[in-house]
Amino acid sequence: MSCVSPKLFVISGPSGAGKGTLVARVRERYPELGLTVSATTREPREGEVDGLNYYFLSDDEFARRIAEHQFVEWAEVHGHRYGTLVSEVSSKLASGQSLVLEIDVQGAFQVKERFPEAVLLFIMPPSLDILKERLVSRGSETAESLTLRLANAEREMALADRYDDVVVNDDLERSTKELLDVIKKHERN
Ligand code: 5GP
Repeated sequence: MSCVSPKLFVISGPSGAGKGTLVARVRERYPELGLTVSATTREPREGEVDGLNYYFLSDDEFARRIAEHQFVEWAEVHGHRYGTLVSEVSSKLASGQSLVLEIDVQGAFQVKERFPEAVLLFIMPPSLDILKERLVSRGSETAESLTLRLANAEREMALADRYDDVVVNDDLERSTKELLDVIKKHERN
């Protein structure tokens, strides 16, 4: 019988790579996999719910929580602050299940410093052109934010070789299966 141990998974990838969709699909097939809710200073998008998609905080509130050491990691991404609260990680890890942090590359390396046993997974778009198409069709970004997200995408993709595994999101069904297989593989190690 194989032995399964709960792990801390960090999942990164450029905006528009489909991280959120892939993680949601993996969790449908593996509901025990936990997911942290991050805090951010960016404005909620239409349909986003406070406490469910993010904890939406003011700049002052975010700064107060940094001063009180309430974050496992935090970073400035696309002009806003994003961070993982210690309370999210400790409560969800205590349940004995594996946990996913869907965060940017800067945050990923901070988590790896703090938890060296964390597994870093990178979701790669098939190409920059396809990434741009996806971001434009999502329609959630201003022209300025789109330009910023595309510039950041190239920088993030250049760091993918520092991750433990890379999953290319070229086909939703295939990529979901691969991500789930990769997660199960690490849990068996
Ligand atoms: P979005 O604004 O599209 O929801 O997220 C933008 C970026 O912020 C994504 O790359 C996402 O992974 C990253 N992000 C979301 N939550 C966190 C977090 O808690 N910490 C860090 N470092 N990045 C985050």
